[in-house]
Amino acid sequence: MDREIKSKIKELKKKNNTIILVHNYQIPEVQDIADFVGDSLDLAMKATKTDAENIIFCGVDFMAESAKILNPSKNVIIPDIEAECPMANMVNLNDLKKLKNDHPGAEVVAYINTTAKTKILSDICCTSANGVKVVKSLLSEKIIFIPDKNLGSYIQRFAKDKEMILWPGICPTHHKIRKEDILTIKKKHPDAEILVHPECRPEVIDISDHTFSTNGMVNYAKTSDTKEFIIGTEKELCYRLKKENLDKTFYPLKSAICPNMKKITLEKVLNSLKTLEPRIKLSNEIMEKAKQPLQRMMEVGRGD
Ligand code: SF4
Repeated sequence: MDREIKSKIKELKKKNNTIILVHNYQIPEVQDIADFVGDSLDLAMKATKTDAENIIFCGVDFMAESAKILNPSKNVIIPDIEAECPMANMVNLNDLKKLKNDHPGAEVVAYINTTAKTKILSDICCTSANGVKVVKSLLSEKIIFIPDKNLGSYIQRFAKDKEMILWPGICPTHHKIRKEDILTIKKKHPDAEILVHPECRPEVIDISDHTFSTNGMVNYAKTSDTKEFIIGTEKELCYRLKKENLDKTFYPLKSAICPNMKKITLEKVLNSLKTLEPRIKLSNEIMEKAKQPLQRMMEVGRGD
């Protein structure tokens, strides 16, 4: 059945001049039909370089929105319009406006995991790969960082000269990972290196060997001499890690699942290829304004 769907996807993709971009947290079957698999920064950059007329974005809403903002002339299609990121919805725009008024000299750094409307109120975006580089690149000494307090406090470790006001948001998937969960796996596999994502709690970051974005983990696993790794991020990254490193072993945190990323299935991708729906729709005004902080981030580039 899957084989049949995959072959139809391949056929329609070519016929419709479509590229399929897939986030590292998508289910294995969807990763397998991708033209490109990556983290949010990679995918945003890839979207700006494609000649394809249609982009099928297998990820969550804010990622597809970013692809649309950077490519307003293309059709950006998300196979399940209800695949939303709860963290992106943790910013109340009125509260953010008030915070900005209370700190007039502060620059607002928005994690890319924000809605287009939130980006409009921000000076620059960042991802988990380039957050430190972005914050260090700013002239302002005071930063309002939205919405992930864990990523913000991680960045603060490297940007000690900045006063960072952290929005109280979290990623439910990463915040669920406990120090004890990691230590239990480490006890069973004492030679494994611990790699965690900066969206994890500070005490989890403290016991890690390295803290990386998902692409940072992919790059490190390839070049490291270590053969075993405990992976402190959404569990599906282990599929890509194993596929690209057959001689190495990756231990996932089994409870680290993002239910929103799992809403996209092969059937839904096929349906989107047939209908070229559901499309991301944003007004020109929103796209133009939200593009500025994204473009400013792209000029800073990757940090890992
Ligand atoms: S893993 Fe966390 S930040 Fe990423 S989409 Fe899911 S809820 Fe949002």
